[in-house]
Amino acid sequence: MRAIIAGGTGFIGKNLVDNLKGSDWEIVVLSRSPGKVADIFDSGVIGMRWDNGDWPDMLGPETVVVNLAGENIADGRWTASKKERILTSRIKAGQRLVEVVKQSGVTPAALIQASAVGYYGPHGDKLIDESTPSGSGFLAEVCRQWEASTQELKSMGVRRCVIRTGMVLGDGGALEKMLPPFRNYLGGPPGDGFQGASWIHMADEVGAIRFLMENTAASGAFNLTAPTPVRMRKFSRILGETLDRPYKLKVPPFALRLLFGEMADEVLLSGQLALPKRLQEAGYEFRFATLEDALKDILG
Ligand code: NDP
Repeated sequence: MRAIIAGGTGFIGKNLVDNLKGSDWEIVVLSRSPGKVADIFDSGVIGMRWDNGDWPDMLGPETVVVNLAGENIADGRWTASKKERILTSRIKAGQRLVEVVKQSGVTPAALIQASAVGYYGPHGDKLIDESTPSGSGFLAEVCRQWEASTQELKSMGVRRCVIRTGMVLGDGGALEKMLPPFRNYLGGPPGDGFQGASWIHMADEVGAIRFLMENTAASGAFNLTAPTPVRMRKFSRILGETLDRPYKLKVPPFALRLLFGEMADEVLLSGQLALPKRLQEAGYEFRFATLEDALKDILG
């Protein structure tokens, strides 16, 4: 069995590779700079460039492709060119995968296609699941086009799972950005804290991806979120309590807009309470089902 992981050098990809290492999976990481692959992973991982004409030869009927590639949405202000990169990097990666599968004439066993709970747009206090239609906003539009970029593979007979991931909690990512104010006694929710936070522990993010890679009956959209999403004010409280620090200093929306521009409204001041309905129906068992347990595990 071979896993081809596009964007495998990123926050989730690195953890997925670590999870697969030492198992029956042979691992290929597709990257814009495969030198980085050698630097990150000591051995046992093949790094290949997207434009290396040889990687299509790695496709086989037992290959599972995991597509995580895309411009990071949270580092840097959303200028017009950043927004363009967020969108086109994702669409191009998806289109390239479809093109290569078509040219190779080989049907891989499955594609795990990344997406995000941003697909649903802001959803206030309503609990949502995979049957909820896509919503409004830039991120929802990005997710729709991102998911659509590999849709054609389904009609070509590839088992395709779309993973709508929430905020992944681990050593890095969003949590790393949230910690400094909390550690410096300045912690609190963004805005009124009423917005939903659909989170997932990294162990479950990679656990669920592997579950979908190996579960041949699984296809379609899956929310990769813990079964207990919370509002941001509760998230702040639990984070503060875990660190033994105050957690009530609300960050005013105008300050967030000043610092982060449009990203403040799309990412920090709105959210959704997404349930992993289809993942649980498929039989996945969460290691970290509550935020208290997840943060205790990560922050010690
Ligand atoms: P990262 O930003 O850490 O990694 C993504 C990878 O994509 C990078 O390692 C890079 O690989 C590649 N990449 C970056 N910029 C570009 C670009 N402009 N064009 C092509 N490839 C690029 O992301 P995560 O690991 O955190 O997340 C993986 C996917 O899951 C992302 O698409 C993200 O949007 C999505 N997601 C993540 C969440 C999270 O909380 N982390 C939440 C919801 C969704 P290389 O440099 O080797 O080419």
